[in-house]
Amino acid sequence: MSTPEITETGLSTAVRKLLAEHDPTSTPVAEFLGARYDAGLAWIHFPEGLGGLAAPRALQQAVNDEFAAAGAPTLDPGRHGIGLGMAAPTLLAFGDAAVHQRFLRPLWTGEEVWCQLFSEPGAGSDLAALGTRAVRDGDSWVVDGQKVWTSLAHEAQWAILVTRSDPTVPKHRGMTYFICDMTAPGVEVRPLRQATGEAEFNEVFLTGVRIPDSRRLGEVGDGWRVAQTTLMNERVAIGGSALPREGGLIGTVARTWRERPELRTPGLQDSLLRLWVDAEAARLTGERLRQQLAAGQPGPEGSAAKLAFARLNQQISGLELELLGGEGLVYDDWTFRRPSHPSMEGGTPGYRYLRAKGNSIEGGTSEILRNIIAERVLGLPQEIRVDKDVAWKDLPR
Ligand SMILES: Cc1cc2nc3c(=O)[nH]c(=O)nc-3n(C[C@H](O)[C@H](O)[C@H](O)COP(=O)(O)OP(=O)(O)OC[C@H]3O[C@@H](n4cnc5c(N)ncnc54)[C@H](O)[C@@H]3O)c2cc1C
Repeated sequence: MSTPEITETGLSTAVRKLLAEHDPTSTPVAEFLGARYDAGLAWIHFPEGLGGLAAPRALQQAVNDEFAAAGAPTLDPGRHGIGLGMAAPTLLAFGDAAVHQRFLRPLWTGEEVWCQLFSEPGAGSDLAALGTRAVRDGDSWVVDGQKVWTSLAHEAQWAILVTRSDPTVPKHRGMTYFICDMTAPGVEVRPLRQATGEAEFNEVFLTGVRIPDSRRLGEVGDGWRVAQTTLMNERVAIGGSALPREGGLIGTVARTWRERPELRTPGLQDSLLRLWVDAEAARLTGERLRQQLAAGQPGPEGSAAKLAFARLNQQISGLELELLGGEGLVYDDWTFRRPSHPSMEGGTPGYRYLRAKGNSIEGGTSEILRNIIAERVLGLPQEIRVDKDVAWKDLPR
């Protein structure tokens, strides 16, 4: 028997049934989200039994909108962005059935937080240069090395981790990808403070950490390909999130503009209008990207969305300071904090201005994204890469 076609009306009926059975305003968040997962209404394009209905991804927005209109809870993207945006699609694509069953539901309900152990001192933009070693030992692997800039490692139970498992082959081969238990012996998380004063990210030291082979994602030596899936999704997750018109930072500044006429000058009006138009263009481009994504895997176009997101956040937070003058510069909260729910929009204008600086570094720097757009979207000549065929162990460092 063939599966009946899933339509927007059918999904809407399922959403209303779930809302009737679980009052979204009084059911505990994890319980509500668990029920949404079990009904296949979490990420509807995922397979049945894994929070989805194998439905067209394009219908997700309508489902989300209907839950939002009913006041249903969602996960905080500051806390769960890496789990939802990067770990989940990678687990689905490269994990086996046991991995799917163990990890996807608590990730969706927010009961388990994820972090991303990719960057290392000496391997950021050039991720394939990484040196954290994974050595096979029977049914498990022993991992040693250091990661850096690991957002929310202090809150995470699980990490997506890329390692070097064979140093004798060129750098893009010989990498292997794992799920790492952040509570395992040998995992040490040390805070790093940012320009804002808070420690949103960390250094992570891995010393003799044992990871069962069953927590490997993809084939041994195929970690680069697995990491590409994560990174493509990361750029879309950062740059292409659904926003209402005047959502995000442009909304904050536009509100101040309307409420504080005494701050207005003709020059600032011109800047605000230009940025408003740019923000709207970026929002609509993000919408198109999501529709494109509905038709398959995210492409390099996600890099353009991430690039625009970083540039706009820096320009808008700069304009906000200009608009507020001395008042905007007041930022004196240097207390040491390790946030559990980081938020760009929370805090003061001074906080936003400082935090936005990281937007053009995290998730791939703007220079690297321009390279990707030049090579893979515009078809311009590739950057010269002289180390492509050199064994990783022979690379100069
Ligand atoms: C707020 C924040 C959160 C982060 N969270 C995480 C996390 O959770 N997990 C994680 O793994 N990492 C995380 N990162 C790390 C981030 O992904 C890296 O910092 C980033 O990839 C850049 O690497 P790098 O710092 O080693 O800089 P480098 O690679 O050393 O680059 C230095 C400069 O050189 C430029 N450059 C390098 N190569 C080229 C090239 N080929 N062409 C042109 N320009 C080039 C870069 O664009 C940059 O301007 C985070 C970073 C920030 C700021």
